[in-house]
Amino acid sequence: MNYPVAIKNVSKSYRKVKALSNISFEVNKGELFGIIGPDGAGKSTLFRILVTLLKPDEGEAFVEGYNVVNQFKEIRKIVGYMPGRFSLYQDLSVEENMNFFASIFKTTVKENYHLVKDIYSQIEPFKTRLAGKLSGGMKQKLALSCALIHSPTVLFLDEPTTGVDAVSRKEFWEMLQRLKQQGITILVSTPYMDEAGLCDRVALIQNGEIMEIDSPEGIIGNYTKNLYKVKTDKMFEIINDLRDYQYTDTAYRFGDSIHFTSKQENPDSDELLSYLQGKGHDNVQINEIKPDVEDCFMALM
Ligand code: ADP
Repeated sequence: MNYPVAIKNVSKSYRKVKALSNISFEVNKGELFGIIGPDGAGKSTLFRILVTLLKPDEGEAFVEGYNVVNQFKEIRKIVGYMPGRFSLYQDLSVEENMNFFASIFKTTVKENYHLVKDIYSQIEPFKTRLAGKLSGGMKQKLALSCALIHSPTVLFLDEPTTGVDAVSRKEFWEMLQRLKQQGITILVSTPYMDEAGLCDRVALIQNGEIMEIDSPEGIIGNYTKNLYKVKTDKMFEIINDLRDYQYTDTAYRFGDSIHFTSKQENPDSDELLSYLQGKGHDNVQINEIKPDVEDCFMALM
């Protein structure tokens, strides 16, 4: 069986920087698959290999059964790619960008309007505006419309929601759900861990290595530690105090609190409470909580 995307032992270095180390995974047809990791994890490098802009040093990768190295022409016809930046011509209008991308693939906006209608109709009222003058959310909609105009079967979206406001981010994920319903396979990368839950499956990537691949529920289900949310009235000092605590396994900022795990097999939160009070913390709150994907990421690092 041909997976829409299959990657086998792919590695890639830029001189001394190892951007990808022995990456292998497959993506199923119609799946919304997230590549989740911080800046510099290797997400863009992986996407650039899959859309045939970069060759792997080692290993093989296939898109719809075509080899990314020697069948790149076939792949370029069937994939849609939204790079992290600079995918639009800033000096062309909305409409001109669309016409340009359609013409590269020897089609017209009119012919494939039905594919992009849901998304493009939202920016069409501004079709004479230069792409460079659009808001972040509108640029993102235009870039997605341009990536879709030639009816690709696999979409690669590299950090489409980075630098976009919260409302536009939510709308964007809703658009992806609708595209998925049309049967398009979607690979999307993001540094935002809270977006993991919107994917069917995710790969957690760090320093060019995949740490885990599973459904968001599966990743959370594999978390075995007792996780605590800790708050005191001296939040500035707490990280250093927790680092000095003999039983601290991990302690990291999470919103307005600290997430803490203990080296003890049966963590003793009363002992932690006494320790923090001894360090001068008042109003100490320690609550055991359920992890989310970010906690799983921290545990895997
Ligand atoms: P991400 O998309 O997750 O931010 P990248 O794939 O862009 O990660 O980068 C992975 C690593 O490779 C980083 O350490 C980055 O600095 C390095 N890198 C990326 N592109 C280049 C390049 N053209 N030349 C040298 N190093 C690069």
